[in-house]
Amino acid sequence: MSLPSQEPQAVDPMPPADAEALKNAAVQAFVEWTRRLPVPPPNSQEFIRSVEPKTRRAARIYSTITERRVVWKEGPTHGSPVVTGLRRQASSVDLWAETPESLRNSSLSVLACSPCGGVGSSPCPKCKGRGNIQCWNCRGTRKAYGYAKDNSRRLMNCRQCDASGRLTCSGCNSGSVSCAACLGHGREQRWLEFVDSVRSDVLVLSEDEHLRRLVWTTEGMEQDAKLVGEISANGVLTQEKVAQHLPEEWVQEHWGKTRVPLKVYERITRQTFQVFEVPAARVSYGIADAPSTTVQFEGRRMLAPPVAEDRQLTTRGRKVLAVRLPLIAVALGIPLLYILRGSFFWNGWLAALLFSLGGFAVVTDRLVQDWTLGRRQKIRQWRRGMAVYALSAIVVALLAEPRLFEARRYISKGRLDDAQTELQALGEPESPELQAAWTDLHLAHALREQQVHEVAKDALAMKPGSPERAQVDQHLLSLTRQQVLASLGRKDVTSASAVLASAHPVLAQGFPKDIGELTARLYEAEHAACTTDPCRWKTLSVALRAEPTPSREQRLGQARATLVEQLTPRPRPKAATLDWVLHLHKTTALASELADTPYDPQVSVHAKQALTWAREERERIPLIGAEREVAISLLQLTASSHPNILSKTTESVALSCELRDGRCVGAYLAGADKESRVLNNLKRTPVTKELLSRVLGHPVELPAPPQPRGGKPPTQTTWKDGRVTLVARWNGIYLMELRVGEVKP
Ligand SMILES: [Zn+2]
Ligand SMILES: [Zn+2]
Ligand SMILES: [Zn+2]
Repeated sequence: MSLPSQEPQAVDPMPPADAEALKNAAVQAFVEWTRRLPVPPPNSQEFIRSVEPKTRRAARIYSTITERRVVWKEGPTHGSPVVTGLRRQASSVDLWAETPESLRNSSLSVLACSPCGGVGSSPCPKCKGRGNIQCWNCRGTRKAYGYAKDNSRRLMNCRQCDASGRLTCSGCNSGSVSCAACLGHGREQRWLEFVDSVRSDVLVLSEDEHLRRLVWTTEGMEQDAKLVGEISANGVLTQEKVAQHLPEEWVQEHWGKTRVPLKVYERITRQTFQVFEVPAARVSYGIADAPSTTVQFEGRRMLAPPVAEDRQLTTRGRKVLAVRLPLIAVALGIPLLYILRGSFFWNGWLAALLFSLGGFAVVTDRLVQDWTLGRRQKIRQWRRGMAVYALSAIVVALLAEPRLFEARRYISKGRLDDAQTELQALGEPESPELQAAWTDLHLAHALREQQVHEVAKDALAMKPGSPERAQVDQHLLSLTRQQVLASLGRKDVTSASAVLASAHPVLAQGFPKDIGELTARLYEAEHAACTTDPCRWKTLSVALRAEPTPSREQRLGQARATLVEQLTPRPRPKAATLDWVLHLHKTTALASELADTPYDPQVSVHAKQALTWAREERERIPLIGAEREVAISLLQLTASSHPNILSKTTESVALSCELRDGRCVGAYLAGADKESRVLNNLKRTPVTKELLSRVLGHPVELPAPPQPRGGKPPTQTTWKDGRVTLVARWNGIYLMELRVGEVKP
């Protein structure tokens, strides 16, 4: 490589900057920049106080740096020249003084080939130098299977190796191969070569540090700066060369910084020095009479500074935002309050209120914006707008409010639903100034209404004793009478009762006689539908109580006499017939129903006495001797699988009775539980006693356990009750079964 040449190239003279265009670009850049601020002011260029365009210089040095090393190369020779040995050492080479050719020529050395030791051949690796290999067919045994002439397969002499067991090696010539490294010449040659690797370095110099901080100085500098001159050299550029194109003091100051740090084997092989002109603009701005803020836009693209460099416009934007929030709250919050006050307010006035408050908020926001920008002449105009919208909001809010005279107007026109909405919106109905209007509304509504429960509701909402209430009560009474009588005429007791129940709370005090009479009629209708004597007596009792009349009194007396007659004990027949048992059951049912009646204490006493009488009479009838039907009715016996056996099983004791000629002649009692049939334990004794008493027709005690006789207790005892024989079977003191009358074991 030749020594670095210094061939300076022509440098363009710097053209004068177009100051006007630069200014315009700066203003545009300023406007763009302010748009990134909070609440950017419209026409932000109005706040620019001065634009100061300027051109600054920047330089860029590209250095190409080459790192050079010396390496040995080696290769085969042509023919077998004389061995020279190594002619040079790598350390003796001057890296930058010699050319590649001279280095190669002076270092070219011939040496004996090291893989073959200078012989030029080596033993064949396939046959290990023997020149033949084992026969693959017979594997060296000389014999191999094959087909004979008669087509039989057998062991024969190997045909591949002619029965020698070995084959000639195909990879060599009599066991040796030519050396691959020296191509058989037995020599190798070596020489020295340069190996270069190249890197580059860029350095930017500028008039002030501010410029160097910008990103574009390392990338895409051409976009923002204009190249005005360039000097290149094969090698290092000298200060003298550069000094011809730049102010001397600038070179004095900055040239020292251009030195590139190099490593041991490195050298600068080319350098290019570029001079740029960078347009820039200082923009000063301020709101009203505040002190100026100055920001700088750089490069042909007029790159903006960070937003944080602004103070004035940001502070002003925050003020606007601070006012905007409460404005939004007012514009949306007040209509929301009206919405929450109830459906009365959900109308066109609310929309108008929303519109007025929205307008007020918008105008106020604009006022704050212009005021913070110091635009006084516009403020006056916004103030007028604020006043108009505020006034309109107040008027609309007043118009949206409910009014008493409006409610009265609706009542007089018969628009009662509208009147009610208006009154409800006015507030509590209890407040004295509204009470009269509410009374009028209820009166109007009640007199128009045909539904008893609706009229009753109106009446209850009115002040008792007032003439309006009396009017409504009268209307309600006639409506009730009409509807109850109509319902009773249709025999529809349910709806009559419902109508009466609705009217009762209102009319019970003022019209007791009318309500009483209607109530009595209602019970009389129920009486007519009665199917039993107690029902008739009860309905007549309540009817008489509701409204006493002599005829009601007389009818009740008759119904009562019928009941008392039914409850009066009858003489016992000689034989207990089924009719008698059924009469006792009927009396018991009737007496149970009337025993606790609240209507007549005497009837209650009669009923209780009849209950006792019927029970005692039932208990007097013995099962033994009773006809089949009487027995079934008396003790609720059921027919069993056997045609002559009736049985009854209580929870603990089983009773069966044996029939002969349609009469019960014997009974059998045992525990119902198969596991334990004991009849006289604590749980079963009362049941057994009761059943035995019913079997015999009078109260009896269970037999006592028999005394042991001769050491062993008897297992059976027998005794008589009148003419009936009873047999008990025992297991020690336990009563296991009872047989009464003629019953087979
Ligand atoms: Zn060799
Ligand atoms: Zn062979
Ligand atoms: Zn070989």
